Amino acid sequence: MAKPLTDHDKRKQISVRGLAGVENVADLKTNFNRHLHFTLVKDRNVATKRDYYFALANTVRDHLVGRWIRTQQHYYEKDPKRVYYISLEFYMGRTLQNTMVNLALENACDEATYQLGLDMEELQDIEEDAGLGNGGLGRLAACFLDSMATLGLAAYGYGIRYEFGIFNQKIVNGWQVEEADDWLRYGNPWEKARPEYMRPVHFYGRVEHTDEGVKWVDTQVVLALPYDTPVPGYRNNIVNTMRLWSAKAPCDFNLKDFNVGGYIQAVLDRNLAENISRVLYPNDNFFEGKELRLKQEYFVVAATLQDIIRRFKASKFGSTEFVRMDLSTLPEKVAIQLNDTHPALAIPEMMRILVDVEKLLWDQAWDIVVHTCAYTNHTVLPEALERWPVDLFHNLLPRHLEIIYEINRRHLERIGKLYPGDMDRLRRMSLIEEGNVKKINMAHLCIVGSHAVNGVARIHSEIIKDTIFKDFYEVDPDKFQNKTNGITPRRWLVMCNPGLAEVIAERIGEDYIVDMDQLKKLLKFVNDDAFIADVAKVKQENKLKFAAHLEEHYKVKINPDSMFDVHVKRIHEYKRQLLNCLHIITFYNRIRKEPQKKWTPRTIMIGGKAAPGYHTAKMIIRLITAIGDIVNNDPIVGDRLKVIFLENYRVTLAEKIIPASDLSEQISTAGTEASGTGNMKFMLNGALTIGPKYLYRLKQAMDQISGGFFSPNQADLFKDLVSMLMHHDRFKVFADYEDYIKCQDKVSALYKNPKEWTKKVIHNIAGSGKFSSDRTISQYAREIWDMEPSLEKIAAPDDPRSFN
Ligand SMILES: *Cc1c(COP(=O)(O)O)cnc(C)c1O
Repeated sequence: MAKPLTDHDKRKQISVRGLAGVENVADLKTNFNRHLHFTLVKDRNVATKRDYYFALANTVRDHLVGRWIRTQQHYYEKDPKRVYYISLEFYMGRTLQNTMVNLALENACDEATYQLGLDMEELQDIEEDAGLGNGGLGRLAACFLDSMATLGLAAYGYGIRYEFGIFNQKIVNGWQVEEADDWLRYGNPWEKARPEYMRPVHFYGRVEHTDEGVKWVDTQVVLALPYDTPVPGYRNNIVNTMRLWSAKAPCDFNLKDFNVGGYIQAVLDRNLAENISRVLYPNDNFFEGKELRLKQEYFVVAATLQDIIRRFKASKFGSTEFVRMDLSTLPEKVAIQLNDTHPALAIPEMMRILVDVEKLLWDQAWDIVVHTCAYTNHTVLPEALERWPVDLFHNLLPRHLEIIYEINRRHLERIGKLYPGDMDRLRRMSLIEEGNVKKINMAHLCIVGSHAVNGVARIHSEIIKDTIFKDFYEVDPDKFQNKTNGITPRRWLVMCNPGLAEVIAERIGEDYIVDMDQLKKLLKFVNDDAFIADVAKVKQENKLKFAAHLEEHYKVKINPDSMFDVHVKRIHEYKRQLLNCLHIITFYNRIRKEPQKKWTPRTIMIGGKAAPGYHTAKMIIRLITAIGDIVNNDPIVGDRLKVIFLENYRVTLAEKIIPASDLSEQISTAGTEASGTGNMKFMLNGALTIGPKYLYRLKQAMDQISGGFFSPNQADLFKDLVSMLMHHDRFKVFADYEDYIKCQDKVSALYKNPKEWTKKVIHNIAGSGKFSSDRTISQYAREIWDMEPSLEKIAAPDDPRSFN
């Protein structure tokens, strides 16, 4: 009898993981040991699992360095147009496996660690997520970096190096509890500090108008210290840069007032300045007008623009004698993409630099700014739109307030000429909202200051033209575009689901990994029994693996033959986790009413973080855990229905659960979810989607929630949630309940026929090519940035670890 394959053996058989040549493996082992010795300063007797992780990370990192330096040299020599993606969030997750995938080192590293008696997967699990994002918007920025490098664009991601990323979520007695995400505690092997490129950022102060121009004086200075992280393309030897700024107090911070005892206090007060990059604001789709957040937004923009302009001036093009030495050619060499309005201050800051510092005329400066900047809108929810009180600006950024007023004056002058006497239109289109507290509408600032404005899905881009930005569309229809979001197939297929990536590669080759439209070729195989069986088998293996993970880490047993019905995303009323709850309760009641019937068993898993200040979202989590407590312990139900709240949903957990899912819940209220990208990850990984396109039971479910059935010790625990549903159902949970239940019945019926189910899955996968972020980025490049994407490779260093 042949021995059963170990996990290591199985992984080795997957060719998309790269070749494990003997020399390669020997070299990796040598360097792993070298790093353990020289970098970690440990021997095998005392090394911990974490030491081994760091040794492996450093070994893999070495393969990036030569390519990184060469890529940047290549950009200097060729001087292509650069694109700067500015974002307050980059939700990167882990880096080790992604680097191995993109450098084709995965099998070799697996073999090397195996020969050293280590389990690579176990080491990978030690890496902390870089959780510098809240949800879709931050993860989009991370997928875009991967695609920009894969498509050979000279691209930079610019953001903030938060010392604390999105909080870790613990569930305690059914409630969410937040813990600080101290992700840098053990050090970050993927970043390189660049103190030599530190830049000053000014705050507060006052404005002086003199004969020589405008001066912003008496400011407080905070230094921006850059940390660079390499961003490798997929097997093309390109390595781009993500540069994140960390706040640093200047040496003389608060030391000017040299009163007795002032020195110690001044050193302690350095924290005040350095708090700017301390923590990510944990709101998804919600605007909280805190001064520290405004400081963060200006901090990233001010530091980044200094970098952009310095690089432009130092470039061959910017410094050549044949080109005028002014900045009018900037838009030919630089594109800036604003990820939502969070970096909107780039527009007035660039005006300040061009007019106050570079002494350009206003009109010339404005032309440069508009042709350089472009703005992506991510939401139409009014509570998410940034509207900063003018008073905050007046205090923190007095010169920028003046500039915004001047931009607004000229903007309204133009609108006034186009629509004489239409005062209401001027009021609607103003950058300044009058009222009790005067506010700056940052979306309006972005539209006026950009040459392109895009929505993130076809329907969303139509909605913004018809509703929130209608007036702006009317005067500048050509500004408005659509760029449907996408996901990188490297992380969201090859890396997280190598089994599926391999059965696809066996049928259509590996080129689809950088050309996802080729997935259409799978349509030839929808009736191929062997392929159907292969796809179903991979899904079953992924489910078993996830079930084992849950059992190991949370001691919950689930039935791997049940349908895995998964609803993971931030907890928000508009995402309607409550609608899912109503279905669960209904399903539970039906099982109890007819326990002998052949119900399709389901394991319903819901996960996501609630913003710490969002009371209703936290109550929704409590309701889900309460339902689980009742349902999971009801002997009549058995393992036909289990309700699991997945703790601490984040990029790493997404990578584990999505490949194991059968059904993806995408049930946000129609018109509220700008795009969604979770949906795309599920589709690519072979789950079917239940969505909004497709009332006595309802009363029973509601009575149970309000009557204390799920909260036996506190009958009125959910009374506010119930009252919200009954009286202010903003997000139409009731209206869609009946249809949703019917649709779920159809889903259950289909699941009873595994072959038909899997055929639908294959159809779905074959159609998922349009959701590659490579397609999204190609469209941004051609239609907004005026750049040309390319799959061409650049030369690799001869010895990937040499230093020339
Ligand atoms: C993709 C992703 C999201 C976005 O999911 P939606 O369903 O589109 O809201 C949020 N969080 C994580 C960790 C993700 O990977």
